[in-house]
This record gives sequence, C-alpha cells and structure tokens, in this order.
Amino acid sequence: MSALIDRFNRRIEYVRLSVTDRCDLRCTYCMPKGFKDFSEPDEWMSFDEIERVIAAFGRLGVHRLRITGGEPLVRKDLPKLVNRLYHLPGIEDLSLSTNATRLSKNADSLYQAGISRINVSLDSLKPDRFKSLTGGKLEKVLEGLMAAKNAGFSPIKINMVVMRGVNDDEVESMVEFCIKHHFTLRFIETMPMGETGQSASSQYLNLQTVKKQLARRYELIPGMMPGGGPARYVRVAGTDLRIGFITPISQHFCETCNRVRLSVEGTLYLCLGQEDKMELRSLLRNGITDYELERTLRQAIDLKPERHEFNEEPSKVVRFMSKTGG
Ligand code: SAM
Ligand code: SF4
Repeated sequence: MSALIDRFNRRIEYVRLSVTDRCDLRCTYCMPKGFKDFSEPDEWMSFDEIERVIAAFGRLGVHRLRITGGEPLVRKDLPKLVNRLYHLPGIEDLSLSTNATRLSKNADSLYQAGISRINVSLDSLKPDRFKSLTGGKLEKVLEGLMAAKNAGFSPIKINMVVMRGVNDDEVESMVEFCIKHHFTLRFIETMPMGETGQSASSQYLNLQTVKKQLARRYELIPGMMPGGGPARYVRVAGTDLRIGFITPISQHFCETCNRVRLSVEGTLYLCLGQEDKMELRSLLRNGITDYELERTLRQAIDLKPERHEFNEEPSKVVRFMSKTGG
C-alpha cells in the first residue's frame, strides 16, 4: 500500500487523536470560563470506530499516534483504548498529551497499556497563578508528573505557553524545574484558535525573545531531538535539558507538516489553522468498507492546505484548540 503524500509532497505519518472535547480545566487561551457546549456521547466515536480509522491509517503508513483532547484522561476507560491502539499493525509510537490533573491515578495503567512518552501542559509553577490561568490545582499536576516519572515514561515533556506579562517571568524557573527533574521543556507561542486564542493574542510573545533571554544565562547548544515534531531544539550545556521552541507564528513550519487531526466526533482536520476537513463518523455508521475508508482518507489528504494563515487571517479559525486536539 503506497504512503499518504499530499499535494505539496509532504508525507503524512502522524495522527493526533482527540478522544474527548471535554476538559476539567479552562486554560485562558484554550476554553472560555464556564464553557459547557460539548459534544454528546452519541456523537463520540466509539472505541471500535476509533480503532477502525487508526488501523486504516496504520495500513497507509501512519506510524505515530498521539492521544490528546480536550483532556484525554476524562474519557472513561482510556487505558483500554490505548491498549487496542498499541496492538495495531504499523503504529510504532504511541504518546499522550495531558494536563496531568488525573495522572497520579492513571500513570501506571497508561504506561502498561502502551504509552511510552507523554507531554504535560504546565504554564506556571506558582499555585495562585496556575489557578487563575487554568482554574485547577497545581499540586495535582505536580503529583501527576511525579507519578509519571515513577511509572517510567521517557521522555516527559513540559509544554509551556509563554505569554507576555502573564508568565514570561517564569521562563527561567521552568528551566530550573526541568533540569532538576530531567524533563524536556518546550515553549509554545499562543495561536489565535477560537475566541479564547484570539483574545490571548494580545499576550503573544515571540519566542525568539525568550531564546535571547535564556542565552544570556545559559549556554545553548543547537541540536536535534527525535519525535518528528515542529519544535526546534537546543541543549543547555552542562545539563541533560533540551529546550524546544514551537513557533507557529514567528517562524512557521508548515512546509514540513506531517500530521492530521481526528476529533472525537470523527472529523478529520487537515490543518490546525484552516477549516479543511472530512467527516468520517457518518461514513463509519453507514457501513463503509475498509477499502472505501482507505480511499476516503487518501481523498482527505488531497485537501490538506499548504499552510495556516494565523498571521494573515487571525480570526479565521473559530473552533477552540480543545476541539481539534491541539
Ligand atoms: N488537555 C491536554 C493538555 O493541555 O495538554 C491536551 C490538549 S491541549 C488542547 C494541547 C496543547 O494545546 C496544550 O499544550 C495547550 O497548552 C495547547 N494550546 C491550547 N490552546 C492554545 C492556543 N490558543 N495557543 C497555543 N497553544 C494552545
Ligand atoms: Fe484543557 Fe488542555 Fe485546553 Fe487547558 S489546554 S483547557 S488542559 S484542553
């Protein structure tokens, strides 16, 4: 079976699967406070439906799968789904993005089910600030991180969205925290996804500024890190810390984009920053064959746009990041 290659000669080998659009936090740049307009259970892809789609992707050369959301740990029986996906032919790399609030209870079962790498969102190490940014308790996240370390996940990556005047004073303390715990650190620029992301644009900080600030205190050695993602990495001399910079706004990386995103409702989004999509759930429920499903996925890949237009058209994407599976 030939690989999935789009119109711009990019090979699609990575799927981000959102297993729920719900979340127990309300990060200011992601979901509005009090937001409850979620999809209903009969609109969610079942585990069988998810498995069928991912198996088809596996046959078409996708070998990386990241489970995300919303908050994926909110989906009941997640380790069972993980284990089913882990056993699919072709899927070699299974990872998870989480806010870690529920990780202390689930770390071992997720690890045993087949997840080896995790990314944890953490924008502040100050309990009050964490509360005002997310509505949650920092303590829970730290407990989750320690449980992940004990369970054996490697690497554990911390994702910090850096916002001007909000948490940019914590960049160095996050570096020290990650050195201490042997975590990898990734800084992310805010993206104008939905009304929350668009209003957070006023706090947008170009990460080149952060890099320059860090270079005054640490010796940063340019380097690579496996993972197939968009981060550009440096290593901090004298430590094992790697820092990645994810710069969709100041330096976009669309020409090497290798991924698509599948929502819990079975919508395949071809680009984070565009509306191009293919609805799969109704096809699955109307008895599509495996052969037709593979053909449909190929047709979807043909719709993948060349690039996002976050800079040119910042109000274009109305869906929140939590819906697409950021
Ligand atoms: N709930 C999980 C978490 O927070 O890691 C997984 C889903 S969350 C949508 C995935 C990532 O998207 C997080 O690292 C979060 O910080 C990031 N994110 C959400 N909205 C964003 C925005 N407007 N700009 C940049 N990153 C955003
Ligand atoms: Fe929830 Fe993750 Fe969005 Fe925060 S970034 S509200 S944790 S989905």
